[in-house]
Amino acid sequence: MGINFERMMLDFSKIISITKTPGNGCTRFSYSPEDKQARQYLLSQMELLGLSIKVDAIGNIRAKFGKEIDKPSIMIGSHIDTVESGGKYDGLTGVLAALEIIRVLIEEETELRHPIELIIFAEEEGSNFGVTMLGSKVLTGRYNVEELKSIKNGEGISVYEKVQSFGLNIENVENDLLRKNEVMSMIELHIEQGAVLETQSKSIGIVQAIAGMNTYKINLEGESNHAGTTPMGLRSDPMVGAANIISFIQQAAKEMALPSTVATVGKISCQPNVPNIIPKKVEFYIDIRDVESNGIEIFSKKLKEKVKNVSEEHSLKNTIELIGASNTVKLSPRIIEQIEEIAKEQNYNYMKLNSGAVHDSAMLNNLTEVGMIFIPSLGGKSHCPEEFTSEKDIHAGCNLLLNVVRALATKKNEIETF
Ligand SMILES: [Zn+2]
Repeated sequence: MGINFERMMLDFSKIISITKTPGNGCTRFSYSPEDKQARQYLLSQMELLGLSIKVDAIGNIRAKFGKEIDKPSIMIGSHIDTVESGGKYDGLTGVLAALEIIRVLIEEETELRHPIELIIFAEEEGSNFGVTMLGSKVLTGRYNVEELKSIKNGEGISVYEKVQSFGLNIENVENDLLRKNEVMSMIELHIEQGAVLETQSKSIGIVQAIAGMNTYKINLEGESNHAGTTPMGLRSDPMVGAANIISFIQQAAKEMALPSTVATVGKISCQPNVPNIIPKKVEFYIDIRDVESNGIEIFSKKLKEKVKNVSEEHSLKNTIELIGASNTVKLSPRIIEQIEEIAKEQNYNYMKLNSGAVHDSAMLNNLTEVGMIFIPSLGGKSHCPEEFTSEKDIHAGCNLLLNVVRALATKKNEIETF
């Protein structure tokens, strides 16, 4: 038995009609009136199925089917919040797939060895407070109540206040943490938000790893002077230094680090930024990502050496500041294998790939085995009204996830507790 696609599309049209910006994409921030309305609909659907439902301290919805089974559950789901004028498919697809999968497992009276738990993570996009994946971070103990009082939005309202006024008991954060033996595996279906699947004409991506990232801010300072009267040999020009370092970045990522390493300079500024003056200061940012943490380390080392050498050569002062970092997450080999086995058996048009973007389920990596299935995004576009995934691909992704969940939930798993 497969999913009932028409039924799922009814849910889909119901939720995407709830937006603050009709005609201009989906705007459904966590803790907004639109969020409340979407939650009401989804909770009513879960109640119809007789799931045991819990809304936790930060607003994650957890709904279990088979709570009488005394084993760790298989968790599936994603998020329903969006960015301002975002797309229809980001997050929502994974949530509605999970809901529909539970319906099918109930209808076909599958005998489960493990409960199935639907999760809707709150505030994934960071649209309120600029902190992405807040729901999954709180669920996994990355913030305590005091810290949630200090994170504020543009109007000075804290997470604590916002969540409390949405009707949740945020004081409960510590009691609502995800425990290690609660969940056997977490699998998230999500749109790719990139163009790899489309380019390769595949409808399914099995995610192997989620890239880690380092962001550096580099400052070079030299001597400002007249562009016409200063001989080339007497200059200390930070723009020349920056150009040297930036051109080195491509070579270093391609030849000195690993095949998976990518590095980008996307932001640069210069002072005084005048055509006929040798600049005083140049500041630029380097975003380095890799699914192998080693690649980031090798690159960072080479980068620092280069900045030092170039600064000496051009008599520049320099600072290198690490302004952001996240770790590489390797997804569970057992789940990857399980997904691939079914994809192969049932002739899905699939490939393995890595994710350059981070997702909620990655936050659960230390507590359970994590897997992700990607479906294509037309033109790689996401976080915009043009975001699009075909019905055919959604259908394929949902059925694959259904089959994976059914297989995991019915077989005797060696790893039943951690
Ligand atoms: Zn998302």
